[in-house]
Amino acid sequence: MRGLLTAVGLAALALPAQALIGYGITMYDPSCGFGCYDAVSGYMLECSVMDHGPVGAHSHGAGGPTSPECRAGDDYFLTTLAYCMNTTCDASTPRWKLEKFWSEQATGSKTVAAKWSYAEALAQIKEPPTDEYGEDDHHLTRTVLLDPETVKANTLTREYFEYAEMIHSRYGLILLIVGFGTPIVISMFTRLPYMSTLSDKLKPYLVYPSIIGTYHVRPLPFLLGNAATVGQSLYVIMFAALNIAMAAAGYKSVQPNAWFGNQWQEVMGYFSARTGVLAFALTPLVILLSGRNNILLWATNWSHSTFMVLHRWVARIYAAQVIVHSIAELVLYIDMGSYEAEFKTEYWAWGIVATVFACAMLVFSSLFFRRWSYELFLIGHIIMAVFVIVGSWYHVEFLFSRKWGYEFWLYAACAVWFFDRVIRVFRVLKNGPRRAVVTEVADNIVRVDVKGIRWTAAPGLHTYAYFPALSPWRPWENHPFSILPTALLQSKRDASLSGAASGSDTPSHADVEKSGGVTSTSRPERDDQALGGAPGTGITLYVRKSKGLTKLLANHNSLLTLLDGPYPDNPTDGVLKSDRLLLIAGGVGITGVLPYIARHTNVKVCWSVKAASEGLVRDLEGPLSRVAEKDIRVGSRLDVAALLAEEERTGWSRVGVVVCGPGGLCDDTRALVTAKARTGPTVWELEVDAFSW
Ligand SMILES: Cc1cc2nc3c(=O)[nH]c(=O)nc-3n(C[C@H](O)[C@H](O)[C@H](O)COP(=O)(O)OP(=O)(O)OC[C@H]3O[C@@H](n4cnc5c(N)ncnc54)[C@H](O)[C@@H]3O)c2cc1C
Repeated sequence: MRGLLTAVGLAALALPAQALIGYGITMYDPSCGFGCYDAVSGYMLECSVMDHGPVGAHSHGAGGPTSPECRAGDDYFLTTLAYCMNTTCDASTPRWKLEKFWSEQATGSKTVAAKWSYAEALAQIKEPPTDEYGEDDHHLTRTVLLDPETVKANTLTREYFEYAEMIHSRYGLILLIVGFGTPIVISMFTRLPYMSTLSDKLKPYLVYPSIIGTYHVRPLPFLLGNAATVGQSLYVIMFAALNIAMAAAGYKSVQPNAWFGNQWQEVMGYFSARTGVLAFALTPLVILLSGRNNILLWATNWSHSTFMVLHRWVARIYAAQVIVHSIAELVLYIDMGSYEAEFKTEYWAWGIVATVFACAMLVFSSLFFRRWSYELFLIGHIIMAVFVIVGSWYHVEFLFSRKWGYEFWLYAACAVWFFDRVIRVFRVLKNGPRRAVVTEVADNIVRVDVKGIRWTAAPGLHTYAYFPALSPWRPWENHPFSILPTALLQSKRDASLSGAASGSDTPSHADVEKSGGVTSTSRPERDDQALGGAPGTGITLYVRKSKGLTKLLANHNSLLTLLDGPYPDNPTDGVLKSDRLLLIAGGVGITGVLPYIARHTNVKVCWSVKAASEGLVRDLEGPLSRVAEKDIRVGSRLDVAALLAEEERTGWSRVGVVVCGPGGLCDDTRALVTAKARTGPTVWELEVDAFSW
């Protein structure tokens, strides 16, 4: 967090605008000065050229046939402006503000100063003017009166526009604070004293169940995506509703308006700007929610997979804001007749770049593409995100030249992103390059021992492993795997020895249903010292080979391995506080639950593996032999309903269930635990670690 703030702070120091409109930046203060300026700046001066350029509402008063230099030296322009300000601005506008306005804005440019000060210009007016600029006037040849109605309309136009911009900033901040703060507040709430009973009652209705049937880890039909839990859905619904409210509320109109021909155009102008600002405000949140080094993961008891669900939904809301912004701008400019001119501008082109890539990200982030090739999805996702941010940056840069602070939202987004990436690099460097022993323990499962790593033996952690030697063309590729402390496994030898001597249980005992005999492991001896670690220090990963990088993992005595981690995936406090802990695993999912056996005294391990993965059971004989209660099935399935019923019958008042394995097993367990938790009297705590997000 400190790094993030420092990065934002450094970025801010280097920039002209130091905040957001309404929060450090004022646009048109004093508005009466701008009202006068707008009224006189359209008049032809002796030095004006007959060259009319388009002036869009967004250009905030720049442009026209008269240059700032021309205004700076024109007597009658300056005296007319000074007289108008002196007679229009009331006592509530202090003199210093008028002088400041004069020195910065009188010519229409901050860098071109008027030849007279405000006081000098007033001093030039010997007689108060009596007439206005007439139709017969080719250019300004005297100090004239400005039409009070025009001045008032100009003044109010600027005031209302600035008010609208201030509301955009405020609502953007509200979105960001609510989106960011909700997980923190809810987590704090659940940790308050006396909240545990309420939380126990709510979890079976909010936290555990899916919003659509029993789908959560398993994708919805036709790969439509993954259904969120009820609690996740409530966050999404709340946040979507807040986005709609923030886009729809708080508009004030003033007509006649100097910039917009009618009320519809005016409100449409504010609305298009609002949706643009809200989209900008969401950018840091979208990136934060997907981060590994994410302050929300540290400050809350929400899981990484929950934040990934929120990342996807907040990103969809972000894209909706972008699309609505672009359509609203298009419709507005067509209505105002300035579309042709806007279309040719650079800011417009970059806006289109950002919009198109935001839409493309929506499509290419679908489950279909993530399943088709995760790595291609990931690379494309990052490249497209860069285009969205760069496109957004140039969009406001060409339009406002960092005058109004819109870019700060983007700097915040970049800071969040870079913070995550930099910490990843630090973690990898801290862990250092390692040489891992890779051992094939079953047909499709390898064990990866990385020595010399001393991480906490806490459960619920994973690391991202790089095997650059396996993928020289994609050395950046890395994948998440659950962590087992090697010490937990090395007790195997001791356990085997004592087991042989005392005849104690191994997984081949009566509680193991299996298709074949369990014999001692066939893995080659590992040379702990040669691998740079004392015996026992280090971590072990069990990897089921899939279609990508993991397919290339094979027996190896010294495979270059880099580790980014450890990271928490699921909170463990709740289940560890239970009287009884039921660990349910399918296949290689055993790695997600095994670390719990060292943390709880009343554990039952229920594990089913396919016959082809029996070698994995043999490899885990050691730690499993130390678990008094276990139900290990090779080649057959667990009956989760019966397992839960048995725990209920035994009469534990609080049972924790951790499930890790295939989607079907995870979803079934979720549904069964939810149903049991709703009926009581047993209180159920559930953690689902699905090896996917
Ligand atoms: C928190 C967590 C812990 C995990 N622990 C283990 C474990 O201990 N043992 C184990 O065998 N597997 C584990 N997995 C699954 C493992 O990460 C994937 O099987 C692995 O990334 C597949 O790599 P591949 O290139 O061979 O995949 P591919 O065959 O190319 O992809 C298979 C699927 O894996 C998923 N996937 C691929 N790469 C990633 C990635 N970088 N991040 C997230 N998902 C990805 C995608 O859904 C993809 O569709 C875990 C996953 C998560 C999220």
